[in-house]
Amino acid sequence: MKNIRNFCIIAHIDHGKSTLADRLLDATQTVTAREQQNQLLDNMDLERERGITIKSHAIQMDYIHNGEKYVLNLIDTPGHVDFSYEVSRSIAACEGALLIVDAAQSIQAQTISNLYLALENDLTIIPVLNKVDLPSANPEEVSDDIVDLLGCDYEEIIPASGKTGLGVDKILEAIINRIPAPKGNVEEPLQALIFDSVYNPFRGIEVIFRVINGKITKGQKIKFMATGKEYFADEIGTLKLNQVPKQEISSGDVGYLISGIKEAREVKVGDTLTDAKVPTQNMIEGFENVKPMVFAGIYPVDTEDYEELRNSMEKLQLNDASLVFAAESSAALGFGFRCGFLGMLHMEIIQERLEREFNMTVITTVPNVSYLAYTKKEPDTAIVVNNPSDLPEPSKLERVEEPYIKATIITKADFVGQVMSLCIDKRGIITNQTYLTEDRVELMFDMPLAEIVFDFYDRLKTVSKGYASFDYSPIGMRSSNLVKVDVMLNANVVDALSALMHADNAYSIGKKMCEKLKELIPRQQFDIPIQAAIGVKVIARETVKALRKDVTAKCYGGDISRKRKLLEKQKAGKKRMRQVGNVEIPQEAFMAVLKLN
Ligand code: GDP
Ligand code: MG
Repeated sequence: MKNIRNFCIIAHIDHGKSTLADRLLDATQTVTAREQQNQLLDNMDLERERGITIKSHAIQMDYIHNGEKYVLNLIDTPGHVDFSYEVSRSIAACEGALLIVDAAQSIQAQTISNLYLALENDLTIIPVLNKVDLPSANPEEVSDDIVDLLGCDYEEIIPASGKTGLGVDKILEAIINRIPAPKGNVEEPLQALIFDSVYNPFRGIEVIFRVINGKITKGQKIKFMATGKEYFADEIGTLKLNQVPKQEISSGDVGYLISGIKEAREVKVGDTLTDAKVPTQNMIEGFENVKPMVFAGIYPVDTEDYEELRNSMEKLQLNDASLVFAAESSAALGFGFRCGFLGMLHMEIIQERLEREFNMTVITTVPNVSYLAYTKKEPDTAIVVNNPSDLPEPSKLERVEEPYIKATIITKADFVGQVMSLCIDKRGIITNQTYLTEDRVELMFDMPLAEIVFDFYDRLKTVSKGYASFDYSPIGMRSSNLVKVDVMLNANVVDALSALMHADNAYSIGKKMCEKLKELIPRQQFDIPIQAAIGVKVIARETVKALRKDVTAKCYGGDISRKRKLLEKQKAGKKRMRQVGNVEIPQEAFMAVLKLN
């Protein structure tokens, strides 16, 4: 155990985490030349393309230092706030962290929020000044920032480059010399932290864990404490580039477990794994059941694909336990599913995976958070509203509550004004303001979750030029003056376009929605009136004018090949269109309410 080091890498997105991880794997010869491929840790296609690590993974390296053999477990963490719970569990499995800071960009959003998570877990931090090869690198100033943030010495900062390999040996040395060996008692009952699970269609769920106390042995009967389920440890092992089966994994080490579990939801990240016969008395602290934060409808473009869509979603759920869904129907879109996601990125990932892995073409409706509605008739019974159309009629409604969060934003002093006006614009109430250093300010707000799930990050990034870190935690439900804004196309309400919003914003958003829809809805042979309404009261109106006669006449003239081309083009364009009544609505229109600024 004294020669084990468990560490993770924390960095803001694009600061070079994956590239540097690859260099560490090269330097420890964990990867043979034949296996080499950029960004090994991001092994889902989607992750590689987007250059982001979606799920945590772990990899074990062997390294000889001063004639002694060390085992280094690198625990990778996802880089997006949607997955912050998983990040926190990965961090809890480590004793140390490399804090990677881009020498051109300096400290940014996730650097700080993840650093705080690491400090809360008492991790040793090794600051790495990365990308020093860049002509735009600014090593002196960025080192000042790092010293300011960590209160460390300049000598502790390791200049590095994932591109040239500079600093990699120093980093390995620091991992061994600075990060403490794991503490734990191999004689105690098994107590292991589950920080990840991976779906394998042939072998079932692979559970990734860190043994805190005791040991796990092949064939042992084990128990998952949060779910109470028991299984046999059919196979255990360590994670090199491939899995290496072992007879035993002892306290301090990281490994995988296969025990015939078929569904992702049976394994909960953060749960404690113990011995079924001699269980530990203590569950590892910090376990949470992850709850979906954002809901949206997913519908097949072609109504005939409904059953296939259901099959695809079920398969997706097997390997992504955080996806939840239930059948629903929409007057406009027919049969589909109301789905719950961890956040907007998670929603995009699911949509993309449905299309790539399952060949589905789907329409996603406006996302919303989960509201609670109370009627005058039964003011003590909460109705859960995950879909705007479930909101009771205004005349019957007593009140509506929406989820609030405590938002923590750290930014440079120069941007405090802009950040504050953005948060106030988003219905935030400032609760605290602290100068961490001369130039770094921490702001706290109570804000409606609905306001931050949509375009908040992008706007925060813009107003702060990237110098804002943002983190949030739920603080419960609060009563709000919310109304449902409906959209009518050609005098028919299109339920899939309805959205819940604060009454103060309804007029301006309703107006902007109508304008946006006018841009997005293709012109047809007739005028299409677009109206926004609260109940029966119309609050905004626009019209998509009919195509001029002569344009169509020209198109449908004598030239047969041209006509065919046009028809083909229309057909291709139709892919993402949905016919509602006699109006064709493109996919973008269903999300229009999110892109109004
Ligand atoms: P991650 O999002 O933190 O995992 O960042 P990546 O490792 O994917 O790197 C983001 C981008 O920066 C990629 O285009 C890398 O090629 C580039 N990059 C990473 N490290 C370095 C470095 O040390 N020097 C230079 N010049 N570019 C780097
Ligand atoms: Mg990456």
